[in-house]
Amino acid sequence: MRKTFAFKLYNSKKNKWLHKQIDAAASIYNYCIAMHKCYFKLWGKHLNKFQLQKHITKLKKRSRYTHWNLVPSQAIQDITDRIARSYQLFFKYSRKGTRPPTFKKYKKYKSITLKQAGYKLLDDNKIMIGKKTYSLFKSRDIEGAIKTLTIKRDALGDVYLFFSCDVKDSEPNRIMTGKSAGFDFGLKIFLTSSDGTKIDAPLFFKKGSGAIKKASRLVSSKKKGSNNRSKARVHLARCHKKIANQRKDYHVKLAQKITQEHDYLFFEDLTIKGMQRIWGRKISDLGFSAFMEMVGYYCQLTGAQMQVIDKFFPSSKMCHVCKKIYEALSLNERSWQCQGCNSLHDRDINAAMNIAIVGASTIGLGNVRPPSVAISA
Ligand SMILES: [Zn+2]
Repeated sequence: MRKTFAFKLYNSKKNKWLHKQIDAAASIYNYCIAMHKCYFKLWGKHLNKFQLQKHITKLKKRSRYTHWNLVPSQAIQDITDRIARSYQLFFKYSRKGTRPPTFKKYKKYKSITLKQAGYKLLDDNKIMIGKKTYSLFKSRDIEGAIKTLTIKRDALGDVYLFFSCDVKDSEPNRIMTGKSAGFDFGLKIFLTSSDGTKIDAPLFFKKGSGAIKKASRLVSSKKKGSNNRSKARVHLARCHKKIANQRKDYHVKLAQKITQEHDYLFFEDLTIKGMQRIWGRKISDLGFSAFMEMVGYYCQLTGAQMQVIDKFFPSSKMCHVCKKIYEALSLNERSWQCQGCNSLHDRDINAAMNIAIVGASTIGLGNVRPPSVAISA
């Protein structure tokens, strides 16, 4: 399985070289996007990545683009690969609201990724990247074979290294629980299980967004280019980071819990859920997909199985007992009565139940027992 090991680099003046590399990567990225746009205007199709790579190699020899030579060729390959992939997705799903990749500001450009070459781990806590040696806070040993190294900076200017490694699967010694469940995501209630358990969205999601709002107001109240403004910006970045850490911690604990408690876990595909336009905000803001990734990771560790249902069905509006669809269900109705069989439903539990039933049938688990949890009339 893939495992990621993350380390922070010591703050050092040398780190500016990494920042320069990432800036140069941003310049290459933006150049590629511009090329794609031009090419598409002219020919009505997207540029293939090999043509693009060839072109960049040529440009690197010109004096105007010498700074691109800072970026290792593998990292350039990674950029062209990523752009090609997102264009492919865009052409495949453009009708469903996918956007083409867009230009990125240097400040917002975060990382470069290397494969096997371009760096070397030295003794102790040292690493050579390019021709320079950096020190990292090596809190643990790296296991397995390193597949990629991502050098990433955050808004505070700190630099982190992420080693993605192939680690031998260890046999999970799992005690089967005999339990399976469907899970439904929500805004107020983060997760509802088909067994009736509801897990509230943690308070810091809300509190945090208040702090962020306040901090970003502070930024815009300061004069542009002033010292105070950059201080306020750092404060804002700290707020974001703190909440990101809290969220991750919360995700980890919840994912551990549900993968230990269930043999099979069923979820709805988030892109499908997003297409139902139930949620105003982008789903990515809510961290559901990050949570799903975390669940996937703990499934590998614990030996639980996770199934994402990728076919569309109206999980909220369908009565899980008689399958009649209640079209008029509005967002405010937290509970409703089925007109087909008179069952009373809690909105979220009914949705989770449907997810559990469809999920179980897709893997041939047979019928999930009719719920004793739903409030029957
Ligand atoms: Zn019904």
